[in-house]
Amino acid sequence: MKDTFRHQGLRQQLVNVLKNKGITNNAVLAAVAKIPRHLFMDSSFLDHAYQDKAFPIAADQTISQPYTVAFQSELMQIKPGHKVLEIGTGSGYQTAVLCELGAKVYSIERQNELFKKTSKFLPKLGYRPKKLIFGDGYIGLKTEAPFDSIIVTAGAPFVPRPLLSQLKIGGRLIIPVGDDVQIMTLFIRKGPKEFEQEEFGEFRFVPLLEDKN
Ligand code: SAH
Repeated sequence: MKDTFRHQGLRQQLVNVLKNKGITNNAVLAAVAKIPRHLFMDSSFLDHAYQDKAFPIAADQTISQPYTVAFQSELMQIKPGHKVLEIGTGSGYQTAVLCELGAKVYSIERQNELFKKTSKFLPKLGYRPKKLIFGDGYIGLKTEAPFDSIIVTAGAPFVPRPLLSQLKIGGRLIIPVGDDVQIMTLFIRKGPKEFEQEEFGEFRFVPLLEDKN
């Protein structure tokens, strides 16, 4: 578990790449500059960790592209103390970003292998999400609702209703919607049954699958 000056330098370059691609939120950029992304990947991918690319992790899943992580995090408009829900813990990298932003993080993963691995790994780096859950993100987390924001980090064929209903009024759901290609979509809850919707172009994610495994 080494983090060297070389890694820090590579992260700074990555931050510059993200800035050039339009990421402006300083807290998000600071999180990318700080978190040792190479430790969230298998060691053979060490040299790739600070390129702006997605990479394979365990259980046929991927660690999202840094730009995607930054873009979604920026849309969440997190303030310290916000209660947030993540669907798709995966490697835990996005979870770590949310922790760095000062959020109280709840995160659900449907693959037991990843759930166990990431549950052990995050505390080793000093990240303590409020709760990591082995379960199905399609149903959200009713016991902890409502949330200031919810982020879905897998491609959803449709928008799961429970996620909308678990937002605070004013709360934000950021979800990539679609089958082969997804449209990044933001829902803002304006009232009990009122939502504002905005779209942000195409992204590619592994699929949001039902049930757990
Ligand atoms: N946030 C992760 C991205 C991982 S890829 C990271 O930064 O590494 C998407 C993840 O969503 C995978 O780990 C996959 O197993 C998980 N996933 C897919 N469908 C799910 C569901 N219904 N509920 C919870 N997690 C799900």
